[in-house]
Amino acid sequence: MTYLPVENVNTATFRPAAFLIKADTMDKIITKEQIRDAAETAYTHASAIKGGANANYIPYLANINPDLFGLSVVLPDGTHIDYGDTDYRFGIESVSKVPTAILVMRQQSPEAILQKIGADATGLPFNSIFAILLENDHPSTPLVNAGAISACSMVAPTGNSNEKWKAITDNITELCGSAPELIDELYKSESDTNFNNRAITWLLKNYNRIYDDPDMSLDLYTRQCSLGITCSQLGIMAATIANGGLNPVTGKQVYDQRISPKITTLIATVGFYQHSGDWLYTSGIPAKSGVGGGVLGVLPGVLGIAAFAPPLDTAGNSVKAQAAILHFMQTLGLGIMNGQRVIIK
Ligand code: GLN
Repeated sequence: MTYLPVENVNTATFRPAAFLIKADTMDKIITKEQIRDAAETAYTHASAIKGGANANYIPYLANINPDLFGLSVVLPDGTHIDYGDTDYRFGIESVSKVPTAILVMRQQSPEAILQKIGADATGLPFNSIFAILLENDHPSTPLVNAGAISACSMVAPTGNSNEKWKAITDNITELCGSAPELIDELYKSESDTNFNNRAITWLLKNYNRIYDDPDMSLDLYTRQCSLGITCSQLGIMAATIANGGLNPVTGKQVYDQRISPKITTLIATVGFYQHSGDWLYTSGIPAKSGVGGGVLGVLPGVLGIAAFAPPLDTAGNSVKAQAAILHFMQTLGLGIMNGQRVIIK
């Protein structure tokens, strides 16, 4: 193959760089069977991993069976690979920050998220008040508690709790291809104990970062965290994001494909809070956790993955879910930074 010297490039002959890459060196071809095998061995490997503890600051979560464990992989053609407890409904918790950030991008724009909340990692725990003070009033990112409460305040229509709630749940339904269900007991448990989040909300109000009624915004955030979701549903949500907003199971284009790189960037930078860098460095996949034990991972253009197991590490990330996703990625040699075009046959 000959390459044009730069000075000879003109509009008639210019081809974007992708056309000049030699296909044989940059393509990675994997089969569905290899993906299925990697998921199965990852599930078996992680099943034996002990350690971690259920979240105990929300009473409902402390009592969930710690042995539950599921792993789902969803491909852009809709192929669904499930192992273990993938139909068990658990609290979505902070994974809900992902769909609501997408919703605000859909209703307003990715730019509005940047201007009104931010897109920076905090490097601090998910419920940090210090992070708000350090950032000089900024909630940093919609994927920590402060930014997520702020995002709930941005959901349209302003001032209408019922309609906002409908927008939040409809969006999740579109991303998953089926509806989440509120876990009433979890909602009550969280509402009775969310004192730290009340402090965050009013601190943000003080800095003009709550764009609707503060109590309503906090309630919407608490309620969305209390939604019951299955591992299988999260796998589809992850695949929809990986697939440029096209839900591979329903075939519906849920949102403008330009939103996918924005939400995936947020997930990559802060999805595991203060462990986000270590996680991305090790696993090669942007992933978002919740204290209910769920983790959603997005490999753009390739696949979505989700895992669920209640025991958490000290940052609030599921120990088994991390082990399973890491094992899966390493077995297949995949990684967002690999610079390869992945072709699934
Ligand atoms: N509802 C939880 C909280 O606000 C969510 C935290 C999480 O999943 N990391 O503390």
